[in-house]
Amino acid sequence: MGIFKRLADIHFHLGQSVDPHILWSIAHEQGIKLPSKDYQEFYNMITLNKPHISWSDYHKLFKWTELIQSSPMAMERSLYETVSGAFRVNGITLQEPGFCPMFRNRNGEQDLDHILLAALRGAERALIEFPKIHAGIILMLDRRLPYKINKIIAEKAIKYKNRGVIGIDIAGPNAAGFSYKDYVKLFRLVQEAGLKTTVHTGEDGTPEEMEEVISILPLNRVNHGIKAAYSKNIMRKLVKKNITLCICPSSNLKVGYIKDITHLKWTLQTLYENKVKFCINTDNPSMLKTTVLKEIQLISDNNILSDEQIKETIDWAFESSFIDFKKQKESNLYL
Ligand SMILES: [Zn+2]
Repeated sequence: MGIFKRLADIHFHLGQSVDPHILWSIAHEQGIKLPSKDYQEFYNMITLNKPHISWSDYHKLFKWTELIQSSPMAMERSLYETVSGAFRVNGITLQEPGFCPMFRNRNGEQDLDHILLAALRGAERALIEFPKIHAGIILMLDRRLPYKINKIIAEKAIKYKNRGVIGIDIAGPNAAGFSYKDYVKLFRLVQEAGLKTTVHTGEDGTPEEMEEVISILPLNRVNHGIKAAYSKNIMRKLVKKNITLCICPSSNLKVGYIKDITHLKWTLQTLYENKVKFCINTDNPSMLKTTVLKEIQLISDNNILSDEQIKETIDWAFESSFIDFKKQKESNLYL
């Protein structure tokens, strides 16, 4: 795999990206009472150990990791270890981890600003130690949260835009009362402040839902978006709006939104043939026991894309980065 000169992971959730042994250590350092005193049991509890998982069980896997990460100390270490580790072990030089700060504050018990500052410091420490890394943090809104709470997350993103927050996302399973229409103004506001926007769509939902999302929300990227392959109309819109899809093959295969390798090949080739830009990411590397290199290997070994095409997808990841590389250099900020 040495033919790829640079690697990027721009769609992964902090909750499922920290190595289990580090989470174990953080939990003990904070005196969190875990359901088991056996490390192997804990490991099995926060990682996926079967070929497939249901959509609702998939989200349950976040419970413990989010609880353990819910303090400034835990966030600093989580970001530091994840960002530095992905570079040291796999040579990932562009990283854009995402997390929902509201799931890190123990229902308001912890101050959101301290959580965010600690996260930024953790990432910054990794960048000081390894200057080849480019990293920025994406704050995730969640469909299960009410609009007023999600608005606070977006406002925090703007507040910390010069400290390393690079954009916002909406994730989480669909919930009653959630409507994309409520978020149009907020997304515009975030973009006007100089940040970038993405949203999880076209994964579990229908192509129609994805079409609605990309038609009404101002977006720079889409997380997943595999359902676009079913609609020429959506693919045309993505090309016209220059929206890059951040696809995570193993994640989609595990929850069954991509049925098998043949389906994966059809999806990626259809997007490619229709000139839709996309890149390969991990989503939940620690939980899925994957890395960007393993994802690329899967695509290469199964002749899903040629090496030239894979290279192109890596270039698209860098092109669609939310980090303003020029500004970063000029301002001499690490983030
Ligand atoms: Zn995701």
